[in-house]
Amino acid sequence: MKFIDEDTARSIIGDTEAFAAVESVFAGMARGEARNFPVVREAIGHADALYGFKSGIDKSTMTLGVKAGGYWPHNAEHGLTNHQSTVALFDPDTGQPTAMVSGNHLTAMRTAAACAVSIRHLARADAKTLGIVGAGHQAAFQLRAAAAQRDFQRVVAWNRSADKLEGLAEVAAELGLGFERVTRDQLGAQADAIVTITACHEALLEASQIRPGTHLACMGTDTAGKQEIDHRILDGARVFTDEPIQAAEIGECQHAVNAGTLSIDDIIPIGRVINGDSPGRTSDRDITVFDGTGVGLQDLAVARRVVDLAG
Ligand code: NAD
Repeated sequence: MKFIDEDTARSIIGDTEAFAAVESVFAGMARGEARNFPVVREAIGHADALYGFKSGIDKSTMTLGVKAGGYWPHNAEHGLTNHQSTVALFDPDTGQPTAMVSGNHLTAMRTAAACAVSIRHLARADAKTLGIVGAGHQAAFQLRAAAAQRDFQRVVAWNRSADKLEGLAEVAAELGLGFERVTRDQLGAQADAIVTITACHEALLEASQIRPGTHLACMGTDTAGKQEIDHRILDGARVFTDEPIQAAEIGECQHAVNAGTLSIDDIIPIGRVINGDSPGRTSDRDITVFDGTGVGLQDLAVARRVVDLAG
């Protein structure tokens, strides 16, 4: 059995490998070859922590496993990451454990990869300006992975506290991209692709702020009650996700579904686009929305990739 610690996992996986793993598993999910099992998430009654499991099987790569972990809100006070997770992989033929992989960095990478997959398959080919809403832990990962998908020239960014944008400005400079702190009106008016990555519980972008042709990758909403964009943006948009049931219940789509303006049948698994079974964007004027809710199979896919690369 292999043990891969946090530093080793970080040193092995890059954006390209994470992208390939996540794109492949989304495709497998849409073909019915990969299945996520019901998620467990519980308060443990200690340290104010939330703990749970995300698991599944991908028969196309014979990957079976579980990500266990959660959120320990007081960790930062001790210099530790609040989100903690570990992936265990098993032999699907025998159930024997094959690997245990530290999952903190991998979670950030697989989330950024999902957003990048959506940009690759749904953003306009001529997209030049990338918008980022949010500047927390996850934002720099999103920026790096997203930037590789188009010939982006500049980044326009907004965060509740503008001073936190400094880190994103540094990443943009490293990537050779221009960077500008903007209002949300300016962001909507200038960005060709927008990534939202906040823990917000109300719409930060209104329908009137979004231009035809924009691609939105909404990555922050992964729980009932969270929200980043006005659900009216979805009216007339082409809406995609990793897992439709999850999008309708805990993703950005929950608000449109609850308002009765979106049916779960209208939410297209992005794997169908990857497999060539859905056209994805149909014109340069389509607004496309990717509701990235985050599934366990993404974690298993990147962990499996790390194990394979570790040799
Ligand atoms: P973080 O705590 O480091 O950063 C939070 C960000 O949200 C900051 O930019 C903060 O300014 C912003 N924010 C919070 N409340 C806000 C409000 N009311 N108005 C405007 N902005 C607000 O978190 P992170 O690790 O960067 O994660 C961001 C979000 O992404 C979280 O909601 C997290 O649960 C989610 N997430 C989703 C996935 C997925 O697969 N979809 C994976 C990882 C994280």
